[in-house]
Amino acid sequence: MPHINTINLLIHDLIDEINLRDEKDCVLKKFTSQPDIFTLFEESVFMKPDEIFQNYQNLAIKQYQSAITYSNYTDFIQLFTTKLINKAAIIINDTVLIEHINYLANIVINATAKGYLLELINGDIPTINAQLEEYVAIQHINAHIHWMKRIIYDIEDGAQIASVELNPQKCQFGLWAATNELANFFSPQELQNINHMHHAVHNSGKSIYYHLKHKKYHQVLVDYLFLSRMSINLVSKLNIKITRQLLQEQIETDSLTKLRNRHSLERILKKTLSFYNKDKETFSLAMLDIDFFKKINDTYGHQVGDMVLQKIAQLLKENIRESDMIFRYGGEEFLLLLPQCDEECAQIACEKLRTSIENHTFDAPLQNYTITLSIGISTAKKAPLSTKEIIEKADNNLYLAKERGRNQVISS
Ligand code: GH3
Ligand code: MG
Ligand code: MG
Repeated sequence: MPHINTINLLIHDLIDEINLRDEKDCVLKKFTSQPDIFTLFEESVFMKPDEIFQNYQNLAIKQYQSAITYSNYTDFIQLFTTKLINKAAIIINDTVLIEHINYLANIVINATAKGYLLELINGDIPTINAQLEEYVAIQHINAHIHWMKRIIYDIEDGAQIASVELNPQKCQFGLWAATNELANFFSPQELQNINHMHHAVHNSGKSIYYHLKHKKYHQVLVDYLFLSRMSINLVSKLNIKITRQLLQEQIETDSLTKLRNRHSLERILKKTLSFYNKDKETFSLAMLDIDFFKKINDTYGHQVGDMVLQKIAQLLKENIRESDMIFRYGGEEFLLLLPQCDEECAQIACEKLRTSIENHTFDAPLQNYTITLSIGISTAKKAPLSTKEIIEKADNNLYLAKERGRNQVISS
């Protein structure tokens, strides 16, 4: 099996990461000391689906006997497999492998879920009553929606959100809220597909609730398996997509200033130029360079220099139109792209930026220090133009601004 080593590496990496965390109540941490779970996952690569299913179900029962509840265990398995898929999506650009991990995770989750329900139906838990049944059904629907939301937040900034309290009536709302957030990540067509899947998850949740109420336990199992499968499919789809998108953003963002970097400039500038060359839409581009920046570094140290770069990036961002885009072009050079903006418009915009920096009082030790910018503008007037030409023109004007005494804007 070609994938076994990669899967092993991923699993061990993930366990190490989890063990390094210092939260006490971390669900994941409770299980990392139990090698059975992971050995089984690794070995699963060589097994038939039925075998994996049976093995994991046995393990789930063992877990229960060692006084860890099934719901805890199921929680763990879901979280762990999702993180594994997530990690795979980040580290390896191999869709087949990700699908394979997803497939294993599917079986594993179904096995634990089935174990959980069997336990319930067989009456192992002493107080199964109507209320508990209702609670279980709601909890599961809740868990799936909550779980999905949690993953989105987890990837975004590690923030945990409060569990959504749900009842079957409010379920519709939970569904709506979760899919609404997804609008930031997916195209309308993709969103429609996700919505269909999500509805299927939701309906099987409702169906579980209905069948539990009428004690049709066999049907509950079928529904539950369907629910699990749909949820893991849905979540891993979302997961892979969101992870890739966030990764793309990371690649195109400068880590110090959080502005777009040169990678994204190439892509965006090409697009702007193609609009320009096709529809003759005017646009301008400006190169901004901090005057005598080296002196700040030499006098106050690199850290203060970095702080200035961050502050200037923030001020530039705050003082441009929503349609303008600012990039960190090099060390202390920024590039401003001004769509649908002719020379006069660019001159006004850049003059505003120049004065906003000149008039800004920086934090100590620079409270008495005036920092200035020199700016060179280039406006696309004649087609066709190349990226190189338009940047060169702005660069030449920037050079002129420096030569003529700095702290000024030159456009033609
Ligand atoms: P001029 O007015 O001619 O532009 O003078 P200058 O000193 O700003 O220009 P020069 O190009 O000589 O120096 C730029 C300095 O920017 C040199 C480099 O050490 C510094 N620099 C580049 N990137 C960073 C960074 O990320 N952090 C810090 N602190 N300094 C940086
Ligand atoms: Mg420079
Ligand atoms: Mg400079």
